[in-house]
Amino acid sequence: MKNRKIAVLVKQVIDTRRTENYTFGENGVVDRNALPAIVNPEDLNALEQAIRLKNQIGNAEIIAISMGPQRAAEALKEAIYRGADSGILVSDRRVAGADTLATSYALSLAVRKAGADIVFAGRQTIDGDTAHVGPQVAQALGVPQVTYAEEVTADGEDHLIVKRRLDNGYEMVRTSIPAVITVMGTAAKCRPCNVRRLLEYRKADVTVWSADDLGGDVARFGLAGSPTQVIKSEPIVTETKGSVTLTSSDEDLTNLVNQLIANRTID
Ligand code: FAD
Repeated sequence: MKNRKIAVLVKQVIDTRRTENYTFGENGVVDRNALPAIVNPEDLNALEQAIRLKNQIGNAEIIAISMGPQRAAEALKEAIYRGADSGILVSDRRVAGADTLATSYALSLAVRKAGADIVFAGRQTIDGDTAHVGPQVAQALGVPQVTYAEEVTADGEDHLIVKRRLDNGYEMVRTSIPAVITVMGTAAKCRPCNVRRLLEYRKADVTVWSADDLGGDVARFGLAGSPTQVIKSEPIVTETKGSVTLTSSDEDLTNLVNQLIANRTID
């Protein structure tokens, strides 16, 4: 089997499940210091698929790649403790303030420079929530993309078979390599940090690349390279107007259905 380099895109996110101090600056930019930082959950599902694929191929190397501030190196270290072979952090003031297009451009350059031919990403983050980055990285690299993946296996030397989650089932897709695969949270959970790896890599540094290291068109990085701008953001507060307690009796259920038809909630 050919030697394969597998990149896993790992984003450090604020834990939006703990929103008590969730704050935005006046320009709509999230204050990332206000909440604990974690590895984006679906990126861990992606990492697990990468580890399984590496085990199947045998001759492969997993490189975790992140773009963010220095602190994002923690996410890469966690990926290494769980099974990645190395980590690369793209960190530079010139890539800061990027929208999803500029983020994807920078990450695609990092993937290319790392020499990876299989790229895994989470389907979506829990902070930005756009699900843009995986597909846009594929577009920037000019390679096929398979989204909503739950299982990825090698098919011969140059292809992958991907099980994709659909609304009412799944489909099996065969793609050539190179390719970008985005992985769902319904895929297998990531294995925990391995104590032996933790002791071995605890003091190891991740590689840090600047905008200059990436090469490419500086005008497409960061805020300057971002065609979108956050004008305003505000939390949505949902309120309950009232509640009704129902039993499972035929009468209560019939009344409920009639009410929903009357107010046009269902036809
Ligand atoms: P998704 O597209 O939902 O992520 C999908 C997958 O892509 C992830 O699961 C992960 O595998 C991978 N991925 C995504 N981002 C990264 C990353 N950075 N490193 C490695 N892998 C990654 N953020 C700021 O910090 N400062 C800003 O000023 C700022 N301005 C923004 C302006 C706009 C208009 C928008 C839309 C976003 C802005 N952001 C800013 C957020 C920033 O663009 C996103 O954090 C980033 O582009 C990723 O988008 P997402 O979180 O929606 O990822």
